[in-house]
Amino acid sequence: MSTLLLDGRAVRAALLPALADRVKALIRPPTLAIVQVGKREDSTAFIKAKIAFGEKIGVNVKHIHLPDTITQQELIAKIQECNADDSIHGIIVQLPLPIALDQDAITEAVDPCKDTDCLTSYSVKRWMEGREDALLPATTRGVKELLAHYKIDLFGKNVVVVGRSMLVGKPLAAFAMNENATVTVCHSKTADLAAETKKADVLIVAAGRPGFIGADQVKEGAIVIDVGINTIKGEKLEDEVSGRKLVGDVDFDAVQPIAGAITPVPGGVGPMTVVALFENLIDICMR
Ligand code: NAD
Repeated sequence: MSTLLLDGRAVRAALLPALADRVKALIRPPTLAIVQVGKREDSTAFIKAKIAFGEKIGVNVKHIHLPDTITQQELIAKIQECNADDSIHGIIVQLPLPIALDQDAITEAVDPCKDTDCLTSYSVKRWMEGREDALLPATTRGVKELLAHYKIDLFGKNVVVVGRSMLVGKPLAAFAMNENATVTVCHSKTADLAAETKKADVLIVAAGRPGFIGADQVKEGAIVIDVGINTIKGEKLEDEVSGRKLVGDVDFDAVQPIAGAITPVPGGVGPMTVVALFENLIDICMR
């Protein structure tokens, strides 16, 4: 069986000109503020990728870098400053935040009208309900567009999502449900993971565990979407974002021969997430 490679880099390249045209059509170039607390290397690498992509399509990205000694109140005050600043159209708080900070309270401080990551309760309600005017969190929107590009329809399919985080697993599950799939969500307490994942027509994995889905957990012909991004220290690699070796949650070499379609890591969902983030920003500007 030949397996279709779901190539996020190629789809990103195909979408880029239309995105740049949408930016040009706006009255003024949009500005996205990314608030980073501390010096996590992976966060810095992801922000660099967002800045670089913003430059390509004519979007300003304002990187607001704060020390990890910042208090909750000071951080919320900084976000409120961005909320009030008319020259800023979208705001992202780069996650994860240092453990001492209350992530929920901080993401909730973002003005829902500038909530590019779709994590305020206002946005969550809308994407949970599957409202037509709802923006989706970037990873979910990226997966949606990747599937759409390859004309993969979730209607009536058994979709299994591994992972239940607010940022990734839950919005992906809600999206699949709203596309009329029958959805199973697995997590760290799932009793028999393989029994669930083998039922999947479409298997979406977002667990943050390098290579842990093997061939014996996948049904022949399944569509496998690997959201995981895990950096392997000490190995040389060339990844465009991190400069380090990246692997997904799926053992690509083992699963690829039996899958009907599969995303690589790097080069699958990751590039689509960046595109989707800027699509969210442009949608916000057009409201
Ligand atoms: P998280 O740690 O918040 O959540 C992980 C989830 O996996 C949890 O719900 C947990 O229950 C589940 N899990 C952990 N071990 C499991 C096991 N053995 N069996 C079944 N479920 C298990 O992580 P997250 O923020 O949701 O991110 C998940 C992965 O996706 C990470 O690798 C992250 O780097 C990646 N990610 C990728 C993108 C992208 O654009 N491709 C964006 C965001 C996150």
